[in-house]
Amino acid sequence: MDDGTGLLVAGTWVNGPGRLPVADKYTGDVIAELHVPGPGQVDAAIASAARSVGQLPHQERALVLRRAARLLDERRDTVVDQYVAETGFTPADAVTELDRTLLILELCAQEALRLTGEMVPVQAAAGHHDSLCFTLRVPVGVVAAVTPFNAPLSTVAHKIAPALAAGNAVVLKPSEQTPLSAIALVHALLDAGLPEGLVHLLPGPGETVGDQLVRHPDVRYITFTGSTAVGRRIRAVSGLARTHLELGSNSPTLLWRDADLDLALPLLARAGYRKAGQVCTSVQRLFVHETIADEATTRLTALVQTIAYGDPRAAGTQVGPLIDTGAARRAQALVEDAVGHGSRLLTGGAREGAVIAPALLAGLPDGARLAAEEAFAPLIAVASVGSLDEAVRQIEATRYGLQAGVFCQDLDVALGFARRLHTGGVIINDTSSCHPDPMPYGGVKDSGQGVEGPGYAVPDMTDSRTVLIRHRHPLD
Ligand code: NAP
Repeated sequence: MDDGTGLLVAGTWVNGPGRLPVADKYTGDVIAELHVPGPGQVDAAIASAARSVGQLPHQERALVLRRAARLLDERRDTVVDQYVAETGFTPADAVTELDRTLLILELCAQEALRLTGEMVPVQAAAGHHDSLCFTLRVPVGVVAAVTPFNAPLSTVAHKIAPALAAGNAVVLKPSEQTPLSAIALVHALLDAGLPEGLVHLLPGPGETVGDQLVRHPDVRYITFTGSTAVGRRIRAVSGLARTHLELGSNSPTLLWRDADLDLALPLLARAGYRKAGQVCTSVQRLFVHETIADEATTRLTALVQTIAYGDPRAAGTQVGPLIDTGAARRAQALVEDAVGHGSRLLTGGAREGAVIAPALLAGLPDGARLAAEEAFAPLIAVASVGSLDEAVRQIEATRYGLQAGVFCQDLDVALGFARRLHTGGVIINDTSSCHPDPMPYGGVKDSGQGVEGPGYAVPDMTDSRTVLIRHRHPLD
């Protein structure tokens, strides 16, 4: 085990010049004090990673990822406790994310074993009737992974595991608010036999440690999940490194007039509020066909009122605190702004410290900040619509484009919705927050570029190298 520094450079847990206290998000107690690297240590981590790329044969990559999954599973009680403390999410949220992480590691192990290039039909070109052409998939090099606070296990796994499966070396900068889960994942990889130099861990602030990392000319690929503002900044300073950006959203879901409300409403009561709404695909804007708006709103209000909130460790709690009091104050201000623009607060919205009572608003007037911005808080605003055109127009009226959901029995309407929206994904008969890990997942517009999902991320984290063989004899 490490000596508690949390700072891993070239296979050694080292001290750094700065300190990073990590707090329990409900009690406020400091639960760890990590070391923050100085600029020389960031450079040393990148140099060590650059020396280590391509060390591990494909079979070994898969073995290490599978062993790491087993170790994480064996350590689940400790991992869950630490996760709950550093995030403020509930133990049930922790278990869901841990199980997803195990699956991501397994899927990436499988991708490592099937990673290959392709044959190229060069015979189409004049003079190449007897040439042979194929591509190799080679590691892209040093991958910088920069991750947000709200999925400190699964998002980190969605970055480190494909990078390693593709043969790269990783330098990880986890969120300074929730670095402990990332450390647990890195420990599992090292204990599973990952050679030193293939993973580096740099806790610390984004503006310093993260900025230095993403500007570094030896970083070849940046995989980032976080806010649109930071994603933009990374694009502006990252030079020729390839960037994969998973950014913010204010995700919509539509209840069409034939929606199965018995199915939809419990899913919405979860998808708008789990992890205190701090999920990029969390339902923030709910559009409901006017013919069912009264019934859907009344029933959803009753469901939201049953959501227990407060201490994440208390039995039955579904919604814990937001990541800090500042985030909760911002959420409160968004609710007040919406009410000021004419929304009706149907339930919730009160703040106590960092905890916000699950909120439901009726009406999402143009001009309200909630109609355009990402709340990242336990709230849904419901708007009634009279037609698919109107729903699409309102949904499209933001700069975001991550995922959208529609509950609908009519195939023409469901597919019309899927074809007309500019989002990375459309989920039919589930909410915008439905995200099975094998699927290609990513946003368009201000929600990002590129897709995650092991089958897509692993090849994307390689370079394609073309091999052309001129052959003196006809091939067939
Ligand atoms: P954030 O503030 O953008 O931070 C994300 C990461 O970037 C953190 O590690 C942060 O460091 C780092 N960072 C900050 N400034 C940087 C810079 N100048 N250069 C390099 N790195 C920098 O996001 P967050 O508040 O942690 O997470 C919430 C956001 O993530 C929401 O907008 C949410 O929608 C988005 N998100 C998107 C997805 C998706 O799949 N599309 C999934 C999850 C979350 P610190 O340690 O200093 O914070």
